[in-house]
Amino acid sequence: MKFYSTRDASKKLFALADAAFLGLAPDGGLFVPERIPQVDMRRVCELAEVSYADMAGYLAGLIFDDVPEATIADVVRKAYDFDINLHFFDQKKGALELFHGPTFAFKDFGARFMGQMTGRLNATDGLTILTATSGDTGSAVAGGFYNVPGVDVVILYPDGKVSPLQEAQMTTLGGNIHPLRVRGNFDDCQRLVKAMFNDTDLRSRKRITSANSINLLRWIPQSFYYFFAHCLWSAFTGCEAADIVVPSGNYGNITAGMLAARMGMPVRRFVAASNANDVVPEFLITGDYKPRASVRTVANAMDVGAPSNFERMMWLYGDVENLRTQVVGFSATDAEILDAIREIEEKYDYISDPHSAVGYLAAKYYDIEGYWLSTASPAKFGEVIEKAVGHWPEIPAALRERMEKERVYTMMDASDSDLKDYLLAL
Ligand SMILES: *Cc1c(COP(=O)(O)O)cnc(C)c1O
Repeated sequence: MKFYSTRDASKKLFALADAAFLGLAPDGGLFVPERIPQVDMRRVCELAEVSYADMAGYLAGLIFDDVPEATIADVVRKAYDFDINLHFFDQKKGALELFHGPTFAFKDFGARFMGQMTGRLNATDGLTILTATSGDTGSAVAGGFYNVPGVDVVILYPDGKVSPLQEAQMTTLGGNIHPLRVRGNFDDCQRLVKAMFNDTDLRSRKRITSANSINLLRWIPQSFYYFFAHCLWSAFTGCEAADIVVPSGNYGNITAGMLAARMGMPVRRFVAASNANDVVPEFLITGDYKPRASVRTVANAMDVGAPSNFERMMWLYGDVENLRTQVVGFSATDAEILDAIREIEEKYDYISDPHSAVGYLAAKYYDIEGYWLSTASPAKFGEVIEKAVGHWPEIPAALRERMEKERVYTMMDASDSDLKDYLLAL
């Protein structure tokens, strides 16, 4: 299987390793597979009974069909050693908990697969992953690439502007993970990373690549849990196709679900659920796509005003009329999100993180038969939970231990030449 850019009408094909190391296509588009393989759902659910990793291995083999089977088996076994759970709230709806991985958010599913796969595609040369983060991406990438042979990870984050928990997740691993605490803001971190990618001298001396969320090695494996969820759902309810609500920001998660649907995963409809950053729900109503600057909300991992994966969505559906046949939109205000967290605790004795609470609200609004994706553990958003229900969520032992470990990072000015020297000396 090869890949091409959403913006390229001539469909110039790229091999997997090239597409993966480029991240974004040279024309600014996003990589998509040259064809969409069809799955055998019976086989998927048989394998899902064995383990998530076995099922993921089968699905990955259909798309990454020129990677040896044994390599894929090893990648999924190392990437997927944690639980996934469909928590039913009543007979017809539940939360698909995708936050039982090491960084307590669904991004582990993409980042860990990418980390393992990159290690295999890059068997011979040293490679440095360079990424800027405002918090959550950095922890998922650090976790995903931790101990991957031949790969160093350099993460830039703004001094004093990430939460103590996020900082602990990036700075307590050590080994091949190199956190840089930059005297500046997130924009400075992004500018520095961009400067390194534009520095031809540096690039001739050092292999660097990014690991951002549009990378196909992060995007494609996010389609696998939709298959797993379908098997859990149909086993429990006897129903064939479910309503699937996806709390969305950059729309990588939901477009991965749409890819799963095209591969043969049954679905009744998707609900694209957003916070106040509602460009896509608005587009579904008006047919006009108007990207804009993001606004800050209590579900801040979804604060995106110009979702990158919009192009993949339009690649999958063609136009808004076709999109509307399978997708509806929903958006929630901060006040509604906080109320929902309170209501979920009162009615179901369950603490939901703010992003998943958007899913709950959309599920209620559309009176779904199905599930919403629960994208993060409430433990990551203690301040918001406290604001909603008056107390902190329980913090899992693994997270508490990380918080207590010594944080090791390098302080750095927001200077191109300092960063370049650092990278060359690594
Ligand atoms: C990244 C993230 C989202 C949004 O996912 P997209 O793929 O960007 O739509 C939702 N919730 C949490 C907790 C996240 O970290």
